[in-house]
Amino acid sequence: MIVHACFVPHPPLLIPEVGKDNINHLKETREAYQKVEAELYARKPEVLLVISSHSLNQHAFSINQQPKVNVNFKRFGDLVTNLEFKNDIALGYKIKESTEVEMPIILTAEQIIDYGAGVPLFYLANHLPDCQICVVHPAKELDYADHVKFGELIKEQLVSYNKRIAIVAAGDLSHRLHQDSPAGYSPRAQEFDQKVIKLLADKDFEALIKFDKFLAEEAKECAIKPLLVLMGIIKEINFVPEKLSYQAPFGIGYLVENFQIK
Ligand SMILES: [Zn+2]
Repeated sequence: MIVHACFVPHPPLLIPEVGKDNINHLKETREAYQKVEAELYARKPEVLLVISSHSLNQHAFSINQQPKVNVNFKRFGDLVTNLEFKNDIALGYKIKESTEVEMPIILTAEQIIDYGAGVPLFYLANHLPDCQICVVHPAKELDYADHVKFGELIKEQLVSYNKRIAIVAAGDLSHRLHQDSPAGYSPRAQEFDQKVIKLLADKDFEALIKFDKFLAEEAKECAIKPLLVLMGIIKEINFVPEKLSYQAPFGIGYLVENFQIK
């Protein structure tokens, strides 16, 4: 069964050993993350289904089926953090089975989880030592409708699954909000972020599915596809969106939002 859903950002700077003093600029995001974590803890999930924006395959959805995986941030200079998780292989197969007739989907075996899922796991699995995970990636070349469809196809499996599942969609909003943004400044970046925030608050799925691709492309974001998969899963379920924080101290939009399943 699905017990909770949320959307979170994944800046490596949120990891204390990586961010060091920069972490002070992410105070609201961090506090919001801690609220999501407290909520998750109360809902006692047995599996965290992470929909991480960074595609591993251009043409297919992918699921990491490596039995045991690690999260570290060595490529960001953090030689200390090392978390270990068990994948819920059975859930991975169920997701594959329910989608493979209609969608291209592949199974992978990644020992190290990319920061796209690693940052959320660092925060959200903190007090859930026995919680398993399942990490799913969108497909770069597939369009928005395919991502919603993917969510719709796996919904029944998740609802009827014999473990308590929390869905964590992860990605960042525009990477072009300031002059010193990593992807350079775009005058439309702010418009993109505000539009996404409003669509989620209004539960306006139709508008999200038809989201302006040129605007998303211009904004350089990695949020829409994980959000579309999430909406595909929960749009028929009664839930309440609750925006917990939005910050962009480094020119990238970080949104934290809870979706309380009723
Ligand atoms: Zn990203």
